Amino acid sequence: MVKQLKTIKTDFPILDQKVNDEQLVYLDNAATTQKPKAVVEALDHYYYHDNANVHRGVHTLAERATEQFENAREKTAAFINAPSKRNILFTRGTTQSLNWIAASYGEQNIKAGDEIVISYMEHHSNLVPWQQLALRKHATLKYIGMHDDGTLDMAQAKELITDKTKIVSIAHVSNVLGVVNPLKALAALAHEHGAIMVGDGAQSVPHMPVDVQDLDVDFYAFSGHKMLGPTGIGGLYGKEALLNAMPPIEFGGEMIDFVDLYESSWKELPWKFEAGTPDISGAIGMGAAIDYLEAIGLDQVQKHEQAIVDYVLPKLLAIDDLEVYGPQDPSKHTGVIAFNLKGLHPHDLATALDMEGVAVRAGHHCAQPLMKYLSVPATARASFYLYNDFNDADRLVDAIKAAKEFFK
Ligand code: PLP
Repeated sequence: MVKQLKTIKTDFPILDQKVNDEQLVYLDNAATTQKPKAVVEALDHYYYHDNANVHRGVHTLAERATEQFENAREKTAAFINAPSKRNILFTRGTTQSLNWIAASYGEQNIKAGDEIVISYMEHHSNLVPWQQLALRKHATLKYIGMHDDGTLDMAQAKELITDKTKIVSIAHVSNVLGVVNPLKALAALAHEHGAIMVGDGAQSVPHMPVDVQDLDVDFYAFSGHKMLGPTGIGGLYGKEALLNAMPPIEFGGEMIDFVDLYESSWKELPWKFEAGTPDISGAIGMGAAIDYLEAIGLDQVQKHEQAIVDYVLPKLLAIDDLEVYGPQDPSKHTGVIAFNLKGLHPHDLATALDMEGVAVRAGHHCAQPLMKYLSVPATARASFYLYNDFNDADRLVDAIKAAKEFFK
């Protein structure tokens, strides 16, 4: 385990509490993560000292707020190695980012007969916007399947991605199967056929170093709240030439250059897409989260989570009647682990774990087509992050064993 991360829990006051008389073990990080003091303090500081609207005023507070807001954009760009802050649009999160691509790029470029390729493991946020776009445009939506271990079937990807394909959009890390998808290879494949590559980075950006230029993705979406930041803020990376050619989705203040009675013009990137007062404190909070993660290093975060997976996955696999989804080989599995205990509904299992102070999620995880593909109505899911440790892993395993005994 990474040494520096051993004592990190003290940075997260929320973790220091009892739930149902047991010390809380928070394992619902794929849904949202907890916030370190540094992020909460950054929000406090902003509201106590610097709150003003951005890009408008010439007074000192407005200048301070604008500087901090745009500084957060620079940090976000550097965090995923975007060439410039012009490539970073602030959004509400992954869902809005993906919807924006469909609503702007998709609306402009997709026509009848075109094909959009996604996979069966997509979160609804990376499925429904494409499904609805395809319906509007009379285009065809195609799905790449998985091997038995949950890894993406690249041979099938090669068959499905053809010259008819205009958009390929895939999760970098699955929020159920815990697999890392080969985005760089998919981007190369998409580009060979003249399609664009969209990456859903909701479960990757918080957990591993991401370099959008190396991946050569055209768009990449992520959420601040899944990487220690506040809710309500996220990002959309886009290649500059594509963003420049795309129409804005929303209109109003902030995004305009000049407005006349019957025509208007837009600001340059990235502001052209950001209509109205943005989530200023959210962006500043996400910037503080990035500072926090970078001080540790994303390679260290990834190493730490991998050590937990190496430790816990064999223990889970050893529990009779526990079905674990995704790869059984820990080196192919990230810290998102979905499972079902035979004969027990996942909601009952999650409730039993909660009684032991262990917070996991149960349900379809916004991936109903994947549940259908796996032939299960729902699963329980534990998801680890940088503040979890081996003790948390043991508590999960013990709580599952206790639930199994209780419901026997
Ligand atoms: N994509 C994936 C893979 C996710 O796991 C999630 C959230 O769980 C989303 C998209 C949507 O993220 P948000 O709800 O922050 O927009």
